[in-house]
Amino acid sequence: MEKKSLISPNIFVNEEEKTLVWEDVQKSFESNFGTEIYQSWLKNITLLKEFNDHLILGVPTRFFRDWIVSRYLDKILSQLKSFKNSINRVEFKITEDHKINSIGSLKSEDLNKVTEISDSILNYNRLNVNLNFENFVAGSSNEIALSSSKKVCEQIARYNPLYIYGGVGLGKTHLLNAIGLELEKKTNVMFISAERFMYHFIKSIKKNDMVNFKDFFRKSSVFIIDDIQFIRGKEGLQEEFFHTFNSLMDKSAQIIISADRAPMKLDRVQERIKSRLSGGLVVDIDVPDFELKTKIIRKRLEDIQQQFKEKSDISEEVVNFLANECKTNIRELIGVLNRVVTFSRIHKKVLTISDCKNILKDVFNQAKVITVDRIQNTVSNFFSIPLAEMLSQRRSRPLARPRQIAMFLAKKMTTRSLPEIGRRFANRDHTTVIHAVKTITRISEKDDEMKKNINHLKSLLLEE
Ligand code: ADP
Ligand code: MG
Repeated sequence: MEKKSLISPNIFVNEEEKTLVWEDVQKSFESNFGTEIYQSWLKNITLLKEFNDHLILGVPTRFFRDWIVSRYLDKILSQLKSFKNSINRVEFKITEDHKINSIGSLKSEDLNKVTEISDSILNYNRLNVNLNFENFVAGSSNEIALSSSKKVCEQIARYNPLYIYGGVGLGKTHLLNAIGLELEKKTNVMFISAERFMYHFIKSIKKNDMVNFKDFFRKSSVFIIDDIQFIRGKEGLQEEFFHTFNSLMDKSAQIIISADRAPMKLDRVQERIKSRLSGGLVVDIDVPDFELKTKIIRKRLEDIQQQFKEKSDISEEVVNFLANECKTNIRELIGVLNRVVTFSRIHKKVLTISDCKNILKDVFNQAKVITVDRIQNTVSNFFSIPLAEMLSQRRSRPLARPRQIAMFLAKKMTTRSLPEIGRRFANRDHTTVIHAVKTITRISEKDDEMKKNINHLKSLLLEE
């Protein structure tokens, strides 16, 4: 009767051999670091050799290695650990550096490749067709940013520049990309992250090819630059950006910028640039509320359903749980949802909240463990009845209902078995717990008040 959830928290690990499936690791890099960083840097990492406690990874050049090590190493390591906990270090081997000598100039064979710069520019100028306006879900936290983005598409250079700012994973890149896709239909669009702008700036300096670089960026009619905060503290880059910006404004090209903060809050950025950035329309994206989060989840579930042509078995309860648990970051929310859905599909299982907690252990590892004690305390406080009374043998409804609710929550939110839960409730029998779970489930299906109380209690327990 008691179904045990023998679920490994990590579905991507081959349990027998504990070898990494590099493709899956790469996928997790993409969802955790975002497409931009992934495409620019992490995609190029290959797995050369795997040991129990360390890995040897290949990167194309010294520049790549230094860049990745200085910025992403900690996070890469913790990602790798989530796949294989025994890993405690990684080494990088450079796989292609022979092309470039120690001063960083190219050998003559490479200088013959005249198309190289434009090819690589094409590569990073690629817009993602999936990040469009149709699948951007509107909510109160992003509606101004969304409507401003649409207006820019209707009338170029009316709001110039358009500056969108907000925290990580809230949809800035998505909106910028959607604008790019829309405007690409009528004119030439340059879409680049400040990080890539930097990368190509340095590369062009090394190759003595600044003329090409300047021309390239100044000839676009729409210039979209993502994560401009990246230029903080980099004087040379700021100089270059400033000139690019001015020459684009002079010819009435539309400029769209995103950042993690308001223009005037960008420290270590020249004043003249900050005032240029705030000279048009500045809008922000706020953290999503519960409603937007659940809307996004439902939209994703629909998409997945269409993709796999099967009904997804994600319950309302799980949707609410995920929306509650992922407080601010939409990227994380989607990542977590993907994992839950994959798990449910592979194991053909309707997931409970405690399954989800298991699956997402490493994501929510900072989350508090929910214990039977905590549930009992929270419930007795919520209904303002003394804990001893709630646990007592008295059967009056004002005591019995909260007691049953507490048992119900203990079953749903902890991994304790029915007999264990019974014991914690003044040595009751497991059949009493089963009865409580059934009763509360039945009532909350019909009674809104009960449903509300249960949800409220859950969110109290999850938030504490
Ligand atoms: P940011 O650039 O602000 O860090 P992104 O634009 O990369 O965030 O968004 C992170 C993820 O969340 C992307 O997969 C994006 O498609 C998704 N996302 C963000 N906001 C929304 C939204 N309102 N509707 C649908 N998906 C969204
Ligand atoms: Mg972004």
